[in-house]
Amino acid sequence: MQPRRVAVLGGGPGGLYAARLLKLANPACEVRVHEQGGADTTFGFGVGLAAGTQRRLAAADPDTLRELVATGLRHDSTMQVGGRVARVRNDRLIGIARTDLLAVLQRHAEKAGVELGFGVRRSAAELDADVVIAADGVSSATRASGGFGGRIETGRGLYLWCGTDFPLDDAVFAPVETEHGVFVTHAYPYSGGRSTFLVETDERTWRRAGFDATTAATGPEDSDQTSLRYLEQVFAGQLRGRPLIGNRTRWLRFRTVRCDRWSQGNTVLLGDAAHTAHFSVGSGTKLAMEDAIALVDALREAPDAGTAFDRYEAARRPWVERLQELARRSQLWWESFPSRLGLPVERLMVAYMSRAGNVPLDRFARTSPDVVGAALRQYGDDGPGTDDLVDRIIGTPLVHGARSFPDRTAVPALPRLHADLHDPWSPEGDALVARARGTDGVLITGPDDRPALLTRLDLAERVRCETGVLTAVQGTAGLRDDLAAGLISGRTDLVALTEESA
Ligand SMILES: Cc1cc2nc3c(=O)[nH]c(=O)nc-3n(C[C@H](O)[C@H](O)[C@H](O)COP(=O)(O)OP(=O)(O)OC[C@H]3O[C@@H](n4cnc5c(N)ncnc54)[C@H](O)[C@@H]3O)c2cc1C
Repeated sequence: MQPRRVAVLGGGPGGLYAARLLKLANPACEVRVHEQGGADTTFGFGVGLAAGTQRRLAAADPDTLRELVATGLRHDSTMQVGGRVARVRNDRLIGIARTDLLAVLQRHAEKAGVELGFGVRRSAAELDADVVIAADGVSSATRASGGFGGRIETGRGLYLWCGTDFPLDDAVFAPVETEHGVFVTHAYPYSGGRSTFLVETDERTWRRAGFDATTAATGPEDSDQTSLRYLEQVFAGQLRGRPLIGNRTRWLRFRTVRCDRWSQGNTVLLGDAAHTAHFSVGSGTKLAMEDAIALVDALREAPDAGTAFDRYEAARRPWVERLQELARRSQLWWESFPSRLGLPVERLMVAYMSRAGNVPLDRFARTSPDVVGAALRQYGDDGPGTDDLVDRIIGTPLVHGARSFPDRTAVPALPRLHADLHDPWSPEGDALVARARGTDGVLITGPDDRPALLTRLDLAERVRCETGVLTAVQGTAGLRDDLAAGLISGRTDLVALTEESA
Protein backbone atom coordinates (compact mmCIF):
# COMPACT_ATOMS: atom_id res chain seq x y z
CA MET A 1 0.00 0.00 0.00
CA GLN A 2 1.07 3.62 -0.40
CA PRO A 3 -0.14 5.51 2.71
CA ARG A 4 -0.11 9.28 2.22
CA ARG A 5 0.35 10.14 5.86
CA VAL A 6 1.84 8.09 8.70
CA ALA A 7 2.04 9.26 12.31
CA VAL A 8 4.49 7.60 14.68
CA LEU A 9 3.76 7.97 18.38
CA GLY A 10 7.01 7.74 20.34
CA GLY A 11 10.54 8.63 19.33
CA GLY A 12 12.34 5.65 20.91
CA PRO A 13 14.42 3.27 18.77
CA GLY A 14 11.34 1.47 17.40
CA GLY A 15 9.46 4.61 16.34
CA LEU A 16 12.47 6.41 14.86
CA TYR A 17 13.69 3.39 12.91
CA ALA A 18 10.19 2.60 11.55
CA ALA A 19 9.83 6.23 10.46
CA ARG A 20 13.12 6.23 8.56
CA LEU A 21 12.53 2.88 6.84
CA LEU A 22 9.03 3.93 5.86
CA LYS A 23 10.21 7.18 4.35
CA LEU A 24 13.00 5.38 2.46
CA ALA A 25 10.49 2.84 1.11
CA ASN A 26 7.91 5.44 0.22
CA PRO A 27 9.44 8.91 -0.20
CA ALA A 28 6.10 10.48 -1.16
CA CYS A 29 4.57 9.57 2.19
CA GLU A 30 4.46 12.22 4.92
CA VAL A 31 5.95 10.63 8.06
CA ARG A 32 5.89 12.46 11.37
CA VAL A 33 7.23 11.28 14.74
CA HIS A 34 5.58 12.67 17.91
CA GLU A 35 7.84 12.40 20.95
CA GLN A 36 6.80 13.73 24.34
CA GLY A 37 10.38 14.28 25.55
CA GLY A 38 12.99 16.67 24.20
CA ALA A 39 15.38 15.66 21.40
CA ASP A 40 18.15 14.95 23.90
CA THR A 41 16.40 14.49 27.22
CA THR A 42 16.21 10.69 27.26
CA PHE A 43 17.34 8.81 30.31
CA GLY A 44 18.78 5.34 30.63
CA PHE A 45 22.34 4.19 30.09
CA GLY A 46 23.73 1.76 27.51
CA VAL A 47 21.88 -0.83 25.45
CA GLY A 48 23.39 -3.91 23.82
CA LEU A 49 23.22 -4.83 20.11
CA ALA A 50 24.21 -8.45 19.42
CA ALA A 51 25.63 -9.91 16.20
CA GLY A 52 22.31 -11.31 14.90
CA THR A 53 20.57 -7.95 15.33
CA GLN A 54 23.42 -6.19 13.56
CA ARG A 55 23.07 -8.59 10.61
CA ARG A 56 19.36 -7.82 10.30
CA LEU A 57 19.91 -4.06 10.62
CA ALA A 58 22.69 -4.26 8.02
CA ALA A 59 20.31 -5.87 5.52
CA ALA A 60 17.57 -3.30 6.18
CA ASP A 61 19.64 -0.12 6.41
CA PRO A 62 23.44 -0.41 6.14
CA ASP A 63 24.07 3.33 6.64
CA THR A 64 22.43 3.49 10.04
CA LEU A 65 24.05 0.25 11.20
CA ARG A 66 27.50 1.46 10.15
CA GLU A 67 27.15 4.54 12.31
CA LEU A 68 25.74 2.63 15.26
CA VAL A 69 28.65 0.19 15.21
CA ALA A 70 31.15 3.05 14.91
CA THR A 71 29.53 4.72 17.93
CA GLY A 72 29.28 1.59 20.11
CA LEU A 73 31.87 -0.32 22.10
CA ARG A 74 32.63 -4.04 21.63
CA HIS A 75 33.17 -6.10 24.77
CA ASP A 76 33.64 -9.64 26.09
CA SER A 77 31.68 -11.08 29.03
CA THR A 78 33.00 -12.19 32.41
CA MET A 79 31.50 -14.00 35.37
CA GLN A 80 33.23 -12.92 38.60
CA VAL A 81 32.75 -14.79 41.86
CA GLY A 82 34.99 -13.97 44.78
CA GLY A 83 38.41 -13.49 43.21
CA ARG A 84 37.78 -15.87 40.26
CA VAL A 85 36.86 -14.83 36.73
CA ALA A 86 35.52 -16.82 33.75
CA ARG A 87 35.66 -15.01 30.39
CA VAL A 88 33.63 -15.53 27.21
CA ARG A 89 34.50 -13.82 23.96
CA ASN A 90 31.69 -11.99 22.12
CA ASP A 91 32.75 -11.33 18.59
CA ARG A 92 30.39 -8.54 17.66
CA LEU A 93 28.29 -7.61 20.70
CA ILE A 94 28.44 -3.84 21.24
CA GLY A 95 27.17 -1.56 23.97
CA ILE A 96 25.87 1.82 22.86
CA ALA A 97 24.57 4.75 24.93
CA ARG A 98 20.83 5.15 24.60
CA THR A 99 21.46 8.85 23.99
CA ASP A 100 23.90 8.06 21.14
CA LEU A 101 21.54 5.45 19.69
CA LEU A 102 18.67 7.93 19.61
CA ALA A 103 20.88 10.71 18.24
CA VAL A 104 21.98 8.48 15.33
CA LEU A 105 18.40 7.35 14.65
CA GLN A 106 17.06 10.92 14.82
CA ARG A 107 19.73 12.12 12.40
CA HIS A 108 19.06 9.31 9.93
CA ALA A 109 15.30 9.76 10.17
CA GLU A 110 15.65 13.46 9.38
CA LYS A 111 18.05 12.72 6.55
CA ALA A 112 15.39 10.48 5.00
CA GLY A 113 12.83 13.29 5.26
CA VAL A 114 10.94 12.34 8.43
CA GLU A 115 9.53 15.24 10.47
CA LEU A 116 10.39 15.00 14.16
CA GLY A 117 8.25 16.75 16.75
CA PHE A 118 9.36 16.92 20.39
CA GLY A 119 8.01 18.04 23.72
CA VAL A 120 4.29 17.27 23.35
CA ARG A 121 2.49 14.23 24.71
CA ARG A 122 -0.10 13.01 22.19
CA SER A 123 -2.64 10.19 22.00
CA ALA A 124 -2.98 7.80 19.07
CA ALA A 125 -6.65 8.72 18.73
CA GLU A 126 -5.93 12.42 18.11
CA LEU A 127 -3.38 11.78 15.33
CA ASP A 128 -4.77 12.38 11.87
CA ALA A 129 -3.08 9.87 9.55
CA ASP A 130 -3.76 6.85 7.31
CA VAL A 131 -1.60 4.73 9.59
CA VAL A 132 -0.69 5.35 13.25
CA ILE A 133 2.33 3.45 14.56
CA ALA A 134 2.11 3.37 18.34
CA ALA A 135 5.71 2.93 19.51
CA ASP A 136 4.97 4.55 22.86
CA GLY A 137 6.95 2.17 25.04
CA VAL A 138 6.32 -0.23 27.90
CA SER A 139 3.76 2.06 29.56
CA SER A 140 1.93 2.58 26.24
CA ALA A 141 -1.25 4.60 26.74
CA THR A 142 -2.37 3.32 23.33
CA ARG A 143 -2.23 -0.28 24.55
CA ALA A 144 -3.92 0.69 27.84
CA SER A 145 -6.76 2.41 25.99
CA GLY A 146 -8.09 -1.08 25.23
CA GLY A 147 -8.82 -3.31 22.26
CA PHE A 148 -5.40 -4.98 22.12
CA GLY A 149 -5.93 -7.58 24.87
CA GLY A 150 -2.83 -6.33 26.70
CA ARG A 151 -1.57 -8.22 29.77
CA ILE A 152 1.28 -7.42 32.12
CA GLU A 153 3.12 -9.96 34.26
CA THR A 154 5.31 -8.54 37.01
CA GLY A 155 8.55 -10.29 38.02
CA ARG A 156 9.30 -11.40 41.59
CA GLY A 157 12.79 -9.94 41.74
CA LEU A 158 13.82 -6.31 41.95
CA TYR A 159 16.29 -4.51 39.72
CA LEU A 160 17.85 -1.11 39.65
CA TRP A 161 19.39 0.55 36.59
CA CYS A 162 22.32 2.88 37.06
CA GLY A 163 25.70 3.64 35.53
CA THR A 164 29.38 4.27 36.14
CA ASP A 165 31.53 7.18 35.03
CA PHE A 166 34.20 4.91 33.56
CA PRO A 167 34.13 2.08 31.02
CA LEU A 168 34.51 -1.40 32.52
CA ASP A 169 36.98 -3.57 30.60
CA ASP A 170 34.27 -6.16 29.82
CA ALA A 171 30.71 -7.05 30.65
CA VAL A 172 30.58 -8.30 34.24
CA PHE A 173 28.20 -10.67 35.99
CA ALA A 174 29.11 -10.61 39.66
CA PRO A 175 27.15 -11.78 42.71
CA VAL A 176 28.09 -10.35 46.10
CA GLU A 177 26.85 -11.69 49.44
CA THR A 178 26.04 -9.09 52.09
CA GLU A 179 24.61 -9.24 55.61
CA HIS A 180 21.18 -8.67 54.01
CA GLY A 181 21.43 -11.23 51.21
CA VAL A 182 22.82 -11.46 47.68
CA PHE A 183 23.02 -8.65 45.13
CA VAL A 184 24.14 -9.45 41.61
CA THR A 185 25.23 -7.03 38.92
CA HIS A 186 25.02 -7.28 35.16
CA ALA A 187 27.23 -4.46 33.94
CA TYR A 188 28.72 -3.59 30.58
CA PRO A 189 30.74 -0.78 29.05
CA TYR A 190 29.38 1.45 26.34
CA SER A 191 30.58 4.41 24.36
CA GLY A 192 31.24 7.75 26.00
CA GLY A 193 33.46 6.33 28.74
CA ARG A 194 30.59 4.90 30.77
CA SER A 195 29.05 1.59 31.75
CA THR A 196 25.54 0.39 32.42
CA PHE A 197 25.44 -1.06 35.94
CA LEU A 198 22.29 -3.05 36.59
CA VAL A 199 21.76 -4.68 39.99
CA GLU A 200 19.25 -7.40 40.87
CA THR A 201 18.13 -8.80 44.18
CA ASP A 202 15.30 -10.80 45.73
CA GLU A 203 12.46 -9.29 47.72
CA ARG A 204 13.70 -10.56 51.11
CA THR A 205 17.15 -9.02 50.66
CA TRP A 206 15.59 -5.79 49.36
CA ARG A 207 13.39 -5.49 52.47
CA ARG A 208 16.16 -6.46 54.89
CA ALA A 209 18.37 -3.73 53.46
CA GLY A 210 15.52 -1.24 53.99
CA PHE A 211 15.05 -0.54 50.29
CA ASP A 212 11.28 -0.93 50.44
CA ALA A 213 11.34 2.28 52.50
CA THR A 214 13.89 4.12 50.32
CA THR A 215 11.93 3.19 47.18
CA ALA A 216 8.74 4.62 48.67
CA ALA A 217 10.59 7.81 49.65
CA THR A 218 12.10 8.41 46.17
CA GLY A 219 10.19 10.87 43.99
CA PRO A 220 9.48 9.99 40.33
CA GLU A 221 12.12 12.41 39.01
CA ASP A 222 14.75 11.46 41.63
CA SER A 223 17.23 8.63 42.15
CA ASP A 224 17.32 6.43 45.23
CA GLN A 225 20.59 7.81 46.60
CA THR A 226 20.56 5.57 49.70
CA SER A 227 20.54 2.45 47.54
CA LEU A 228 23.22 3.84 45.22
CA ARG A 229 25.57 4.64 48.12
CA TYR A 230 24.98 1.18 49.63
CA LEU A 231 25.62 -0.57 46.29
CA GLU A 232 28.84 1.41 45.79
CA GLN A 233 30.14 -0.34 48.91
CA VAL A 234 28.81 -3.75 47.86
CA PHE A 235 30.40 -3.55 44.38
CA ALA A 236 33.49 -1.53 45.36
CA GLY A 237 35.69 -4.22 43.74
CA GLN A 238 34.01 -3.98 40.34
CA LEU A 239 33.67 -0.19 40.62
CA ARG A 240 37.33 0.34 41.56
CA GLY A 241 36.08 2.70 44.26
CA ARG A 242 34.20 4.93 41.74
CA PRO A 243 30.63 6.14 42.38
CA LEU A 244 27.41 4.87 40.83
CA ILE A 245 25.45 7.39 38.78
CA GLY A 246 21.68 7.49 39.01
CA ASN A 247 19.29 8.82 36.40
CA ARG A 248 15.76 8.51 37.78
CA THR A 249 17.16 5.31 39.28
CA ARG A 250 14.92 3.31 41.58
CA TRP A 251 14.16 -0.33 42.35
CA LEU A 252 11.63 -1.79 39.91
CA ARG A 253 10.07 -5.12 39.08
CA PHE A 254 10.33 -6.16 35.45
CA ARG A 255 7.04 -6.02 33.54
CA THR A 256 6.53 -8.53 30.74
CA VAL A 257 3.95 -7.18 28.29
CA ARG A 258 1.90 -9.45 26.03
CA CYS A 259 -1.00 -8.54 23.73
CA ASP A 260 -3.63 -10.69 22.06
CA ARG A 261 -3.67 -8.35 19.07
CA TRP A 262 -1.12 -5.80 17.89
CA SER A 263 -3.43 -3.66 15.79
CA GLN A 264 -6.82 -2.11 15.78
CA GLY A 265 -8.36 0.04 13.03
CA ASN A 266 -5.55 2.18 11.59
CA THR A 267 -3.32 1.82 14.68
CA VAL A 268 -0.55 -0.73 15.12
CA LEU A 269 1.63 -1.37 18.19
CA LEU A 270 5.38 -1.71 17.81
CA GLY A 271 8.26 -2.50 20.20
CA ASP A 272 7.83 -2.33 23.98
CA ALA A 273 4.24 -1.12 23.50
CA ALA A 274 3.34 -4.56 22.09
CA HIS A 275 5.72 -6.84 24.01
CA THR A 276 8.66 -6.85 26.39
CA ALA A 277 11.20 -9.52 27.30
CA HIS A 278 13.36 -9.58 30.43
CA PHE A 279 16.48 -7.42 30.12
CA SER A 280 18.78 -10.35 30.86
CA VAL A 281 18.42 -11.49 27.25
CA GLY A 282 19.23 -7.94 26.09
CA SER A 283 16.44 -7.69 23.58
CA GLY A 284 14.17 -4.64 24.01
CA THR A 285 15.91 -2.44 21.46
CA LYS A 286 16.50 -5.37 19.10
CA LEU A 287 12.82 -6.40 19.13
CA ALA A 288 11.63 -2.84 18.56
CA MET A 289 13.96 -2.27 15.59
CA GLU A 290 13.25 -5.68 14.05
CA ASP A 291 9.51 -4.98 14.40
CA ALA A 292 10.08 -1.79 12.44
CA ILE A 293 11.73 -3.72 9.59
CA ALA A 294 8.86 -6.23 9.42
CA LEU A 295 6.13 -3.59 9.64
CA VAL A 296 7.61 -1.50 6.84
CA ASP A 297 8.06 -4.62 4.67
CA ALA A 298 4.42 -5.55 5.27
CA LEU A 299 3.14 -2.02 4.54
CA ARG A 300 5.13 -1.95 1.30
CA GLU A 301 3.70 -5.22 0.00
CA ALA A 302 0.13 -5.42 1.31
CA PRO A 303 -2.88 -3.89 -0.49
CA ASP A 304 -4.26 -2.19 2.65
CA ALA A 305 -3.35 -1.38 6.26
CA GLY A 306 -5.39 -4.22 7.80
CA THR A 307 -3.68 -6.85 5.64
CA ALA A 308 -0.27 -5.27 6.31
CA PHE A 309 -0.86 -5.31 10.08
CA ASP A 310 -1.95 -8.97 9.95
CA ARG A 311 1.12 -9.93 7.93
CA TYR A 312 3.40 -7.95 10.25
CA GLU A 313 1.97 -9.66 13.31
CA ALA A 314 2.08 -13.10 11.66
CA ALA A 315 5.75 -12.57 10.77
CA ARG A 316 6.86 -11.17 14.12
CA ARG A 317 4.74 -12.93 16.73
CA PRO A 318 6.54 -16.32 16.55
CA TRP A 319 9.94 -14.60 17.02
CA VAL A 320 8.67 -12.44 19.82
CA GLU A 321 6.99 -15.33 21.65
CA ARG A 322 10.09 -17.51 21.28
CA LEU A 323 12.23 -14.73 22.73
CA GLN A 324 9.73 -14.06 25.52
CA GLU A 325 9.91 -17.74 26.48
CA LEU A 326 13.74 -17.63 26.53
CA ALA A 327 13.53 -14.42 28.52
CA ARG A 328 11.06 -16.00 30.97
CA ARG A 329 13.50 -18.85 31.66
CA SER A 330 16.38 -16.39 31.94
CA GLN A 331 14.39 -14.20 34.34
CA LEU A 332 13.58 -17.19 36.58
CA TRP A 333 17.27 -18.16 36.51
CA TRP A 334 18.41 -14.71 37.61
CA GLU A 335 15.67 -14.44 40.22
CA SER A 336 16.96 -17.69 41.80
CA PHE A 337 20.62 -16.84 41.30
CA PRO A 338 21.75 -16.80 44.98
CA SER A 339 21.06 -20.54 45.30
CA ARG A 340 23.92 -21.27 42.84
CA LEU A 341 26.72 -19.47 44.62
CA GLY A 342 28.27 -22.80 45.64
CA LEU A 343 29.21 -23.54 42.02
CA PRO A 344 32.77 -22.77 40.87
CA VAL A 345 32.86 -19.83 38.48
CA GLU A 346 33.37 -21.81 35.25
CA ARG A 347 30.47 -24.14 36.02
CA LEU A 348 28.40 -21.07 36.86
CA MET A 349 29.30 -19.62 33.44
CA VAL A 350 28.16 -22.87 31.76
CA ALA A 351 24.95 -22.73 33.82
CA TYR A 352 24.45 -19.12 32.72
CA MET A 353 24.99 -19.92 29.03
CA SER A 354 22.57 -22.87 29.17
CA ARG A 355 19.95 -21.19 31.40
CA ALA A 356 17.37 -20.59 28.66
CA GLY A 357 18.13 -23.60 26.45
CA ASN A 358 19.16 -21.59 23.37
CA VAL A 359 22.94 -22.07 23.42
CA PRO A 360 23.88 -25.68 22.61
CA LEU A 361 26.62 -26.95 24.93
CA ASP A 362 28.85 -28.23 22.11
CA ARG A 363 28.72 -24.84 20.38
CA PHE A 364 29.67 -23.09 23.60
CA ALA A 365 32.50 -25.62 24.11
CA ARG A 366 33.85 -24.77 20.64
CA THR A 367 33.84 -21.00 21.28
CA SER A 368 34.99 -21.15 24.94
CA PRO A 369 37.01 -24.38 25.31
CA ASP A 370 38.91 -23.10 28.36
CA VAL A 371 35.72 -22.33 30.31
CA VAL A 372 34.07 -25.65 29.42
CA GLY A 373 37.34 -27.54 30.04
CA ALA A 374 37.63 -26.08 33.55
CA ALA A 375 33.93 -26.74 34.21
CA LEU A 376 34.39 -30.38 33.15
CA ARG A 377 37.26 -30.86 35.62
CA GLN A 378 35.26 -29.23 38.42
CA TYR A 379 32.36 -31.54 37.58
CA GLY A 380 34.54 -34.61 38.03
CA ASP A 381 35.60 -35.46 34.48
CA ASP A 382 39.13 -36.86 34.54
CA GLY A 383 40.07 -36.62 30.88
CA PRO A 384 38.69 -37.40 27.45
CA GLY A 385 37.79 -41.11 27.40
CA THR A 386 35.73 -40.09 24.35
CA ASP A 387 35.64 -37.05 22.04
CA ASP A 388 31.91 -36.72 22.48
CA LEU A 389 31.24 -34.03 25.09
CA VAL A 390 27.79 -35.34 25.98
CA ASP A 391 29.09 -38.91 26.42
CA ARG A 392 31.89 -37.57 28.63
CA ILE A 393 29.48 -35.70 30.88
CA ILE A 394 26.99 -38.54 31.13
CA GLY A 395 29.80 -41.07 31.63
CA THR A 396 31.38 -39.24 34.59
CA PRO A 397 31.09 -41.11 37.92
CA LEU A 398 29.37 -39.51 40.91
CA VAL A 399 29.92 -39.77 44.64
CA HIS A 400 26.89 -38.49 46.56
CA GLY A 401 27.17 -38.85 50.34
CA ALA A 402 27.87 -42.51 51.04
CA ARG A 403 26.66 -43.61 47.61
CA SER A 404 28.69 -43.82 44.44
CA PHE A 405 27.56 -44.25 40.85
CA PRO A 406 29.71 -45.43 37.92
CA ASP A 407 28.07 -42.95 35.54
CA ARG A 408 25.19 -40.46 35.52
CA THR A 409 22.63 -42.85 34.09
CA ALA A 410 23.01 -45.36 36.95
CA VAL A 411 19.76 -44.29 38.62
CA PRO A 412 18.82 -46.35 41.70
CA ALA A 413 15.22 -47.08 42.70
CA LEU A 414 13.87 -43.70 43.85
CA PRO A 415 10.43 -42.29 44.65
CA ARG A 416 8.95 -40.53 41.63
CA LEU A 417 8.02 -36.88 41.60
CA HIS A 418 5.79 -36.16 38.62
CA ALA A 419 6.28 -32.58 37.49
CA ASP A 420 4.14 -30.96 34.82
CA LEU A 421 4.41 -27.28 35.66
CA HIS A 422 5.30 -23.93 34.09
CA ASP A 423 7.33 -22.34 36.88
CA PRO A 424 9.45 -24.34 39.35
CA TRP A 425 9.34 -21.41 41.81
CA SER A 426 5.52 -21.31 41.88
CA PRO A 427 3.45 -22.66 44.82
CA GLU A 428 3.14 -25.89 42.78
CA GLY A 429 6.95 -26.04 42.69
CA ASP A 430 7.07 -25.35 46.46
CA ALA A 431 4.81 -28.38 47.05
CA LEU A 432 7.05 -30.64 44.95
CA VAL A 433 10.17 -29.47 46.80
CA ALA A 434 8.40 -30.16 50.11
CA ARG A 435 7.63 -33.73 48.95
CA ALA A 436 11.30 -34.31 48.10
CA ARG A 437 12.50 -33.13 51.50
CA GLY A 438 13.48 -35.96 53.82
CA THR A 439 13.64 -38.62 51.07
CA ASP A 440 16.95 -40.18 50.07
CA GLY A 441 16.48 -38.96 46.52
CA VAL A 442 13.82 -38.39 43.86
CA LEU A 443 13.34 -39.26 40.21
CA ILE A 444 11.61 -36.32 38.56
CA THR A 445 9.38 -37.40 35.69
CA GLY A 446 7.01 -35.57 33.35
CA PRO A 447 6.06 -34.96 29.72
CA ASP A 448 8.56 -35.83 26.94
CA ASP A 449 8.68 -32.45 25.23
CA ARG A 450 11.73 -30.19 25.49
CA PRO A 451 10.17 -27.23 27.33
CA ALA A 452 8.85 -29.65 29.99
CA LEU A 453 12.31 -31.23 30.32
CA LEU A 454 14.02 -27.84 30.74
CA THR A 455 11.52 -26.93 33.46
CA ARG A 456 12.08 -30.31 35.13
CA LEU A 457 15.82 -29.65 35.20
CA ASP A 458 15.17 -26.27 36.86
CA LEU A 459 12.93 -27.96 39.43
CA ALA A 460 15.61 -30.59 40.07
CA GLU A 461 18.14 -27.84 40.70
CA ARG A 462 15.79 -26.23 43.17
CA VAL A 463 15.34 -29.60 44.94
CA ARG A 464 19.13 -30.17 45.04
CA CYS A 465 19.89 -26.69 46.36
CA GLU A 466 17.10 -26.51 48.93
CA THR A 467 17.03 -30.08 50.25
CA GLY A 468 20.41 -31.59 49.34
CA VAL A 469 18.74 -34.86 48.27
CA LEU A 470 19.95 -36.86 45.27
CA THR A 471 18.06 -35.89 42.11
CA ALA A 472 17.57 -37.78 38.88
CA VAL A 473 15.68 -36.30 35.93
CA GLN A 474 13.92 -38.43 33.37
CA GLY A 475 14.28 -37.41 29.73
CA THR A 476 14.21 -38.95 26.29
CA ALA A 477 17.44 -39.97 24.57
CA GLY A 478 16.73 -37.33 21.91
CA LEU A 479 17.28 -34.66 24.57
CA ARG A 480 20.64 -35.98 25.84
CA ASP A 481 22.33 -32.65 25.07
CA ASP A 482 19.97 -30.79 27.41
CA LEU A 483 20.38 -33.47 30.06
CA ALA A 484 24.19 -33.21 29.79
CA ALA A 485 23.99 -29.40 30.07
CA GLY A 486 21.82 -29.92 33.16
CA LEU A 487 24.39 -32.25 34.72
CA ILE A 488 27.45 -30.05 34.23
CA SER A 489 25.47 -26.97 35.32
CA GLY A 490 24.53 -28.61 38.61
CA ARG A 491 20.81 -28.83 37.84
CA THR A 492 20.65 -32.57 38.45
CA ASP A 493 22.91 -35.35 39.77
CA LEU A 494 21.69 -38.18 37.53
CA VAL A 495 19.60 -38.65 34.38
CA ALA A 496 17.21 -41.46 33.51
CA LEU A 497 17.20 -41.89 29.72
CA THR A 498 14.01 -43.15 28.14
CA GLU A 499 12.87 -43.93 24.62
CA GLU A 500 10.62 -41.38 22.95
CA SER A 501 6.97 -42.40 23.44
CA ALA A 502 5.28 -43.26 20.16
C1 LIG B 1 13.82 5.83 29.43
C2 LIG B 1 14.25 4.46 29.08
C3 LIG B 1 15.55 4.03 29.39
C4 LIG B 1 15.97 2.76 29.01
N1 LIG B 1 17.24 2.39 29.29
C5 LIG B 1 17.71 1.23 28.83
C6 LIG B 1 19.07 0.91 29.02
O1 LIG B 1 19.83 1.65 29.62
N2 LIG B 1 19.51 -0.30 28.52
C7 LIG B 1 18.68 -1.16 27.82
O2 LIG B 1 19.12 -2.20 27.37
N3 LIG B 1 17.38 -0.87 27.67
C8 LIG B 1 16.88 0.29 28.16
N4 LIG B 1 15.58 0.59 28.00
C9 LIG B 1 14.71 -0.43 27.40
C10 LIG B 1 14.88 -0.46 25.93
O3 LIG B 1 15.49 0.73 25.55
C11 LIG B 1 13.52 -0.65 25.30
O4 LIG B 1 13.22 -2.02 25.30
C12 LIG B 1 13.54 -0.12 23.90
O5 LIG B 1 13.90 1.22 24.00
C13 LIG B 1 12.18 -0.27 23.26
O6 LIG B 1 12.06 0.65 22.23
P1 LIG B 1 10.67 1.31 21.90
O7 LIG B 1 10.96 2.24 20.80
O8 LIG B 1 9.64 0.27 21.73
O9 LIG B 1 10.23 2.10 23.19
P2 LIG B 1 10.94 3.26 24.08
O10 LIG B 1 12.40 3.27 23.88
O11 LIG B 1 10.40 3.06 25.41
O12 LIG B 1 10.38 4.57 23.42
C14 LIG B 1 9.05 5.00 23.59
C15 LIG B 1 9.04 6.50 23.41
O13 LIG B 1 7.70 6.93 23.34
C16 LIG B 1 7.59 8.15 24.02
N5 LIG B 1 6.18 8.30 24.39
C17 LIG B 1 5.46 7.49 25.21
N6 LIG B 1 4.18 7.90 25.27
C18 LIG B 1 4.10 9.00 24.47
C19 LIG B 1 3.02 9.87 24.13
N7 LIG B 1 1.80 9.67 24.60
N8 LIG B 1 3.27 10.92 23.30
C20 LIG B 1 4.53 11.10 22.80
N9 LIG B 1 5.58 10.30 23.10
C21 LIG B 1 5.36 9.26 23.91
C22 LIG B 1 8.54 8.00 25.19
O14 LIG B 1 8.94 9.26 25.71
C23 LIG B 1 9.69 7.23 24.56
O15 LIG B 1 10.68 8.10 24.06
C24 LIG B 1 15.10 1.86 28.37
C25 LIG B 1 13.79 2.29 28.10
C26 LIG B 1 13.40 3.60 28.44
C27 LIG B 1 12.01 4.10 28.15
